[in-house]
This record gives sequence, structure tokens and C-alpha cells, in this order.
Amino acid sequence: MKRRRRRTRHLRNVVLSLSAVGLFLICVSIFYQGLLDPLAAFQPSVSGGGEAPSAAEDTSASLSPASREEAPAPSEPQPAPSQQPPAASAETASDEAVSSSDVKSESALQSEEPLQSEPPVSSLPAVSAPEGDPFPELYVSKPDYVPHEAGDKVVYLTFDDGPSNLTIPVLDVLDRYGVKATFFVVGKTSEDDKEALRQTVKRGHTLAVHTYTHRYEEIYASPEAYLSDFSRMRNLIYDTTGVEPTIYRYAGGSVNSYNKKTARSIVEEMNRRGYTYYDWNVDSGDAQRGTSAEGIYQNVITQTSKHEKAIVLMHNSSAKKDTLDQLPRIIEKLQSMGYRFAALDPTVEPINFRLPD
Ligand SMILES: [Zn+2]
Repeated sequence: MKRRRRRTRHLRNVVLSLSAVGLFLICVSIFYQGLLDPLAAFQPSVSGGGEAPSAAEDTSASLSPASREEAPAPSEPQPAPSQQPPAASAETASDEAVSSSDVKSESALQSEEPLQSEPPVSSLPAVSAPEGDPFPELYVSKPDYVPHEAGDKVVYLTFDDGPSNLTIPVLDVLDRYGVKATFFVVGKTSEDDKEALRQTVKRGHTLAVHTYTHRYEEIYASPEAYLSDFSRMRNLIYDTTGVEPTIYRYAGGSVNSYNKKTARSIVEEMNRRGYTYYDWNVDSGDAQRGTSAEGIYQNVITQTSKHEKAIVLMHNSSAKKDTLDQLPRIIEKLQSMGYRFAALDPTVEPINFRLPD
């Protein structure tokens, strides 16, 4: 009897100490995780920026001739003959709108409805990162492409460089026509901008990563630098809307004069993580100095008419009022030409420029 009791006590002690050790280990791992997260988010490259992302560019006022020149692989043959992007000149260093004035000058957005607080929208199971990965959150599942069917005339309108005070107005136009589109967004953090992100999701469009800082020299310095910027933008989208972005567009397009040495390694790294990027085969020209409102309309209609599947580059920074104004005409005309509109998702086979070797 006594021995049995002693043995029971002994057993209980063993169990107790084992669970104490387990508890301790759990605490330690939680502590380290908490320690690592902020570290991963720390970006040496943005130390000067503070909370306001790069005030680098936006309007044509700040254009430098040099930055204008970059035309990513304009005349290079593309791998898929049916998807030949034209001169990929629009996304230049100077077309971007991450100016702090942009953030401040936003008028109040109409947020009629309460913010959504649903759990993160992720259609696919999470992919777990290998141990020691500095960006464990940057893994997504990549679905198979759904082939484009011959005869299906489809337009993917894409808006870069938002959110801005023109995002809600663009959403309103899209709503009016029942059109879904894709927004490749940058790192803007005012409440109005965040509300614009939420509205974009709520109204059924695709929210996707463009870049946080839009500073070419920094983000294209190395794959690590690119991931660092990408991770900030991914986190902003995820934390604001609950959406896990799975597609993206390179600032300046996938081929530009700033990433000649790093484009391939960055693309390979992003592919490895399951992300899909999209260039374009129709350029509205709205980022080029001197394009008139009429020119934007004509560019889109003329170029789109050459494709059954068109990915249209447009911009949504605060300077792009002409784009907003032309949008109803553009949609009406394309609809009359038999096109349907859709938002990009990773099942859509991308149109990509040819990377340098
Ligand atoms: Zn851009």
C-alpha cells in the first residue's frame, strides 16, 4: 500500500515537473515570437521616412528627365506571342503618388457603413515558412491558372499608386457599371486611405501589392530589400482589411532601369513564395507627361481592341483626375465592343514582360 502510494506520488511529481517544463517552453517560444515580429518589421531602408511613406514623387512637377526615360523592355519580344505588352513605359519613377500632401489633403470619405471586422479572407490554406525565414508571413498558395478561352473578350482594369482621394470616386464609377477591377496599392496610412482600402475590398475588387515606398533605388537593391518593402505593404493591407494579398505589380513594371541586376532573382524569390505578378498589355498613358484626357481614352480603346484579354494600366494617385473622368466613357465603349470586365486573381494567367537574362 505504502509503496504504491509512494509510486503514485512519484508519478504525480514527474507529471507535474514535465508540465512545468512544457509551460516554460511555451512561454519562451511566445516571448521569442513577440521579439522576432517587430524585428522582422524593422526596415533600415525607411529609417528616414517616418510614418509618411516616400514623398518622392507624384505629380509631373517633380519629374526628372532621367526618370522619364525608363521604358521597361519596350521592344523586346515577349514569351507568349498572344500577349505582347506594348512599350512598357508608363510606370516610371515619377508617376507615383506617395506624397504626404496627398495624405493630408484627402477629403472626408463617405463611409456609410461600419468597418468590417470579419476574419482574414484567405481562400487557400496558409503555407508554412521554412525555419529561419526572415519573412515567414510572405508565403501564399498558388492556384493553377484557368486558361483564357478563345472568344472571351475580357478587360482587367488595374489602378496603381492608390489609395488616394480619388479611390472612392473611382469605386463609385465602377459600382455604377457593375465593373470589378484591381488596385495595386502603395504605403499610405491616413485614416482616409485605410478606409479607401477597406472600401475597395468591401465593394468586391482585388486589393494587391504595388510597393510600400515606391523608391526604386531601395526596393530593387536586392531580393531582401524587395521583400522588406513588400512585407510592409502586405502587412498594411492585411492589418487594415484582413485580406491576404496574393498578387502584385512591380513599381515601374517588372522590367525597368532600376532592377536590371536584380529583377530575375527577385522574381524567382517571389515565385518561390507563391506570389503572382502582373504587367500589362494596354497602357492608358496616364502616367506620362502630356497625355491629354482624350489621349487616355484613345490609348485604352485603341490598344484594347487588339487583344481579347487586356490588362489595362491606369493610375489612382491624387493627380489622376483625368483617368477618373474618362473612366465612364472607357467602360461604356469597351462594353459596347463586347468586352466584359473582371478583377485579377491568381488564377488569371499573367501578362509579363521579358526579364533580362
Ligand atoms: Zn507605381
